[in-house]
Amino acid sequence: MAVIIDGKAISEQIRGELAAGVAAMKQNGTTPGLAVVLVGEDPASQVYVRNKIRACEQLGIHSEDHRLPADTTEGELLALVRELNRREDIHGILVQLPLPRQIRERAVIEAIAPEKDVDAFHAQNVGQIVQGQYDFLPCTPAGVLELIRRSGIPVEGKDCVVVGRSNIVGKPMAMLMLHENATVTICHSRTRDLSAVTRRADILIVAIGRAKFITADMVKEGAVVIDVGMDRDENGKLCGDVDFAAVEPKAGYITPVPGGVGPMTITMLMKNTVTAARLAGGRR
Ligand code: NAP
Repeated sequence: MAVIIDGKAISEQIRGELAAGVAAMKQNGTTPGLAVVLVGEDPASQVYVRNKIRACEQLGIHSEDHRLPADTTEGELLALVRELNRREDIHGILVQLPLPRQIRERAVIEAIAPEKDVDAFHAQNVGQIVQGQYDFLPCTPAGVLELIRRSGIPVEGKDCVVVGRSNIVGKPMAMLMLHENATVTICHSRTRDLSAVTRRADILIVAIGRAKFITADMVKEGAVVIDVGMDRDENGKLCGDVDFAAVEPKAGYITPVPGGVGPMTITMLMKNTVTAARLAGGRR
């Protein structure tokens, strides 16, 4: 039987720490501010944005919700980003992805001032992460690392396998585990004999977007299994990339879906916003 890593509880603990930090900053005259920009009416994005705004409100962070129509041009969006870059009361800017087809995501990400890029997707922030000298980490990999640390799981020298190589999750996740001195392997859709690789993992982190894809025979006895996936099963119920019921008896630690990595992502966004406000204060 695995230890179930409770992402909700760990997330609450961190939010408590952040709320205390925000209160102290406010006493010194700074209220951290986050601007969230949503273009179009994608229902999933609307839910994500609402949750981010709500989390800000709970912690006393100032938040703004900029909603633009689906036919917004790249020029119009870039103009808004530049205006937010200039504002002193806004410390973090998050443009919710995906964007409509007429807008180049890279152009928008690169237009965000790196010191306000709380998603840590800007090339400058990505480069700093690779070098191991960073102010922000992308929210989902940062959340996974925090779950591992706060569960007291040793990483140094362990074999870590990351399945998935997206810019948002897989690649930065692998880099963070490398910085933690794990021996890291990255797998993807062209990996030959995936099971043979995943079975070697002391720590297995899965971010592929396929419901219950990782089965018990792909996991080593006693492994730490972190499931980033947010998928729907055959009945439309939320589930992860790992077949939890089958893998849990074999694993040493495991994250559930929901209630594992998910709650941590927004918490890490809050953390990055507070960090951005603190750093902005230091520059003034
Ligand atoms: P993505 O951009 O679609 O990338 C998926 C990755 O998985 C790709 O690198 C792909 O390989 C790999 N892959 C797909 N099928 C595979 C297979 N059969 N075997 C091995 N590798 C395979 O997805 P993402 O944005 O990283 O998200 C992954 C999952 O995490 C999704 O379920 C998403 O909803 C979830 N997610 C959750 C959170 C959270 O807060 N909990 C945040 C972000 C994402 P190739 O590169 O070769 O195509």
